[in-house]
Amino acid sequence: MAASKSALDPLDLFNIRAELSDDERMVQDSVARFVDEQAIPVMREAFEQHRFPRELISQVAELGLLGSSIDGYDCAGLNSISYGLICQELERGDSGLRSFVSVQSSLVMFPIYAYGSEEQKQRWLPAMAKGEAIGCFGLTESQGGSDPSNMKTHAKKDGNDWILNGSKMWITNGTIADAAIIWATTDEGVKGFIVEKDMPGFTAQEIENKFSLRASITAALFFDGVRIPAANVLPGVTGLKGPLSCLTQARYGITWGVIGAAQACLDEVIRYTADRVLFDRPRSHTQSIQIRLADMARRITTAQLLSLQLGRLKDRGELHPTQVSLAKWNNCRAAIDIARDARDILGGSGISAEFVPIRHMLNLESVITYEGTETVHQLIVGQELTGVNAFG
Ligand SMILES: Cc1cc2nc3c(=O)[nH]c(=O)nc-3n(C[C@H](O)[C@H](O)[C@H](O)COP(=O)(O)OP(=O)(O)OC[C@H]3O[C@@H](n4cnc5c(N)ncnc54)[C@H](O)[C@@H]3O)c2cc1C
Repeated sequence: MAASKSALDPLDLFNIRAELSDDERMVQDSVARFVDEQAIPVMREAFEQHRFPRELISQVAELGLLGSSIDGYDCAGLNSISYGLICQELERGDSGLRSFVSVQSSLVMFPIYAYGSEEQKQRWLPAMAKGEAIGCFGLTESQGGSDPSNMKTHAKKDGNDWILNGSKMWITNGTIADAAIIWATTDEGVKGFIVEKDMPGFTAQEIENKFSLRASITAALFFDGVRIPAANVLPGVTGLKGPLSCLTQARYGITWGVIGAAQACLDEVIRYTADRVLFDRPRSHTQSIQIRLADMARRITTAQLLSLQLGRLKDRGELHPTQVSLAKWNNCRAAIDIARDARDILGGSGISAEFVPIRHMLNLESVITYEGTETVHQLIVGQELTGVNAFG
């Protein structure tokens, strides 16, 4: 039986593309081209070699993808839908590349822009937009990332300076960062500090032997009496709302990013099942495979609609963090389930690096964990519905 061609894009069944402005489509196309032509071959190899491909940073910067939502300071000033599309296309390549851009943009440049002094903005934002300075974001500590209120890292005032002691765990970009945004308790509440790589007492140690996000750097950071001048404190925020507001930005991007990973997996299995003949029939001609592919498309479509609406709310200044939690939970769950099912559909080939699902599947184990685990986001939504905090 010959297969007839669909009028719909299997990776965009509800034609989200038609909802985009010309500018947004242009952003998507230019990032997609970069990912297909330059990033995917490098990322696959980098994943196998367990290294972050620093050689891609200058290209990512040239495309204006670092701090793309910031207006001024040599940044592109794009809207939230464009930022989402950037994340989606990058993660279609590899979650590690998207993680690099998310951290630099949403977790480092955003707090400097939102809470930094003019001097801090002038010093860091243009350099970070060009990829000449790299940043990392330190909130998580070894005693439990889900409970940041149990923070032990502490800064104490000493004249005009602060003395920082403690450690951070699981920090993306940690060993290549020129500036680390470190959240620490103080007598005045939680504050953000810009810790520079050469400050005495600051060390970063790479976490090795990861089976997930192998093409991304993850590190432990240690602060042993690091003296930090007052000029390196973010003056505009005190309290956990500082880091949590950064997480809302990054989680928003993740909701889009994981769609890209899921699309890459669906794309691969649609092609594979059309060619793979077992028991005299291509796999795609069987009901069980069609139901599994249809379910992947249903989940991708739902995720796309959630992210699109989130982006519109964000651009109107109406975004609520609970909405981001629901979408981060839904979209990560969809993507990881799709990647795992795609790996299974490929049979033995599914464990080979020649095919994308296993790499996405392994990466998504980190993505579903970081920036709030699935349980954390479920409890945030639960609290919204009931008015009761059930975390304890
Ligand atoms: C690759 C990678 C990169 C990362 N990058 C960064 C970074 O750049 N900066 C940064 O600050 N952090 C980063 N993180 C840390 C990440 O945010 C944490 O791993 C995450 O928040 C979970 O914290 P934890 O690992 O300490 O797990 P825990 O908080 O110890 O959670 C363990 C388990 O308990 C569950 N749990 C938690 N609370 C509850 C509850 N109330 N009820 C029931 N179950 C619960 C969780 O869902 C999870 O299953 C990164 C992590 C990874 C893996």
